[in-house]
Amino acid sequence: MLKRILLGLAGLIVLLVVVVVGRTLMVPVAAPVEAGAAGSVDAERAARRLAEAVRFETISHQRGAAADDLARSDAAMTGFRDWLGATYPAFTAAASREIFGGHSLLYTWAGTDASLDPVLLMSHLDVVPIAPGTEDQWEQAPFAGTIADGYVWGRGTIDTKASLVAMVEAADMLAAQGFQPTRTILFAFGHDEEIGGGTGNKVIAETLQQRGVKLHWVNDEGGVIGHGLLPGVTTPVAMIGVAEKGSISLDIVAYSKGGHSSMPSPAAQTAIGRLARALERIGEAPFEARVDGATRGMIESLAPAVPFMQRMVYANLWLFEPVVRRVMAGSPASAAQLQTTIAPTIVEGGNKENVLPPQARAVVNFRIHPRDNAESIIEHVREAVDDPEVSIEPLDGIREASTVSNVEGDGYRLLTQVIGESFPGTIVAPYLVVGGTDSRHYLPITDNVFRFIPIHMGPEDMARFHGTNERVSVANMGEAVAFYIRLMEALNATEGQ
Ligand SMILES: [Zn+2]
Repeated sequence: MLKRILLGLAGLIVLLVVVVVGRTLMVPVAAPVEAGAAGSVDAERAARRLAEAVRFETISHQRGAAADDLARSDAAMTGFRDWLGATYPAFTAAASREIFGGHSLLYTWAGTDASLDPVLLMSHLDVVPIAPGTEDQWEQAPFAGTIADGYVWGRGTIDTKASLVAMVEAADMLAAQGFQPTRTILFAFGHDEEIGGGTGNKVIAETLQQRGVKLHWVNDEGGVIGHGLLPGVTTPVAMIGVAEKGSISLDIVAYSKGGHSSMPSPAAQTAIGRLARALERIGEAPFEARVDGATRGMIESLAPAVPFMQRMVYANLWLFEPVVRRVMAGSPASAAQLQTTIAPTIVEGGNKENVLPPQARAVVNFRIHPRDNAESIIEHVREAVDDPEVSIEPLDGIREASTVSNVEGDGYRLLTQVIGESFPGTIVAPYLVVGGTDSRHYLPITDNVFRFIPIHMGPEDMARFHGTNERVSVANMGEAVAFYIRLMEALNATEGQ
């Protein structure tokens, strides 16, 4: 009897091994990297134009900024707009332009077939300021538009004037050759993306909706071509954001009687004690974490690019999902891909050392995973805190998570194809964007939002993004222009799909 059970067990184990190894071997291994062909594109010219674009200090300021800062940005935005017209005459003649919120631009390059829903390509005009005190650490002045050592240096190169210049350069070259899109191509360049897009892309999206426009698909900033950004992955990976997280901040206020500190209630019943306990309870009640949706798609897409043992795990998530989940939970960046995150950001209470404050307050920011929503988060937190003396209310500015775009549809397929042609040997992977982009404003008029720019980034480039010594290589500008040319041509080739 025992022997039979053991034999049965051994049989099962053999079967399991066969399935796991079989699934692993079925994963096609990545081809070696070849140089991308930029075709007839003039990389130097594209780089020079990016350098010119950098010289417009198109910083977007929060409300309440100094009047002369606002005026300077205003002039820079106008200058940039005029520069686009002067630099790209074929494109700006072929496409009609509308201005929203003062400076956001919507170009419509009308297609020959008006029955097809337009595609929308996005970028933004604005850039973030230079962090005070870091000016001296720039190898090239941030707004000088310097080309040196094979790079265009300056604020906004990565985020995201490189993609803007590349797509307009591509469209201008095509327009000059008499190319006309079959499907209308819209270009939306917001002027306030870095401060929420409330007067730019939000208004453009509302206007399009009022006009009854539905978008076939949208591509915005988000993912890049990563080099060495993922553990075990040596091939370049083009990350396409297929969903983005939402955000909600909860105002958590604990109440108590107050009074003199010489005769306190037990510490746990003071306002500060209650607040501390509430925060501890929230921290001890993490949100559901799973390798599913966009994150699962990412892991599965990476399988061809990782060593055999790792591939065995990635190709068999049906079995190893808990293992992958545990490894990913180990670092904040990958943990954010799995679940709604919890970040206490403000705490305040009391103003005198010998007075018990009648209330103490904290703000906790949650980045909402697409499987959760604002309402479920409030409920989860109230349940976890479980204290009638603690009020929990949402602050303004709730942003729900986006839907997850279809990776089987036209948009993703086309991007994957063009990435393959432009950057041979690159693996394409979907992923969940943990920050916010302006593309969310278009979710009411499309089911397919993708977030990818054809810019290479390695581990040491991550700090340049919104940081010091932001730069994009001259060669990369050539590749990026070629990418957008192929994308627009491929759109025509797949006309009617
Ligand atoms: Zn950006």
